[in-house]
Amino acid sequence: MSNENKTIYDFDFSLICEYFSQVKRQGPGSPEVTLKALSFIDNLTADSCIADLGCGTGGQTMVLAEHVAGEITGLDLFPDFIRIFNRNAEQLGLQDRVKGCVGSMTETLPFEKESLDLIWSEGAIYNIGFEQGLNEWKQYLKKGGYIAVSEASWFTDKRPEEIHRFWMENYPGIDTIPNKVAQMQRAGYVPVSTFIIPENCWTEHFFKPCHKAQDDFLKKYPGKPMVEDLVMNQRREEGLYDTYKAFYGYVFYIGKKI
Ligand code: SAH
Repeated sequence: MSNENKTIYDFDFSLICEYFSQVKRQGPGSPEVTLKALSFIDNLTADSCIADLGCGTGGQTMVLAEHVAGEITGLDLFPDFIRIFNRNAEQLGLQDRVKGCVGSMTETLPFEKESLDLIWSEGAIYNIGFEQGLNEWKQYLKKGGYIAVSEASWFTDKRPEEIHRFWMENYPGIDTIPNKVAQMQRAGYVPVSTFIIPENCWTEHFFKPCHKAQDDFLKKYPGKPMVEDLVMNQRREEGLYDTYKAFYGYVFYIGKKI
């Protein structure tokens, strides 16, 4: 598509994709944390069916695939991410059982009812909302199947005004860990485990790789307001995390469908 044919929305969208395509992960996490969450899940075999919703370019999906047998379907809204996902799977020789497809987690999912052994979603369930995602996706899990998601959570009941406002503007669904666990239980899962993902998942595995992407982006599009805005936003988010990391972070929630 030439630039003249793009609406502003299209261009915005493709810029965001281009930016995040430069980095291995599109949200905080690490291979160690993916494997820690996986260690709580005990029902997987070569016949298992797994879905990774909001998989991005598949950083965590490939880690999963290298440690579990079974088929994994990655689903993401952005075709560019899915293209990279499928290329990554092929490069690792996983293409026969790891497949990326374009789709929305907020629509009917491309799975049979009660067909999945595990639903994975790192840093992405906020797109549908934690509680709604848990409720909607449950129908695709087999009885005894697991869900493992990471989600922004408050560590304290009260927090400074600046960080509170930032999250209310960006994701008002953020809540404390006990409230999220209660939501999981209400949605019909046994809360199996909950743990806070360590700081290096943000600093080393997310922000640091983004620095190079930001510099490259500014060089590639000098003086372009939308690019400068995007980079400024990213840098603000990093600054806020540095200042307020005692009050919030990402938490892994693992539940078993009953
Ligand atoms: N799981 C990846 C990506 C997290 S970023 C990681 O941890 O690195 C959130 C992802 O959700 C992005 O890849 C974004 O494209 C995707 N996304 C946003 N809205 C979506 C929707 N409605 N359906 C599916 N994926 C969506």
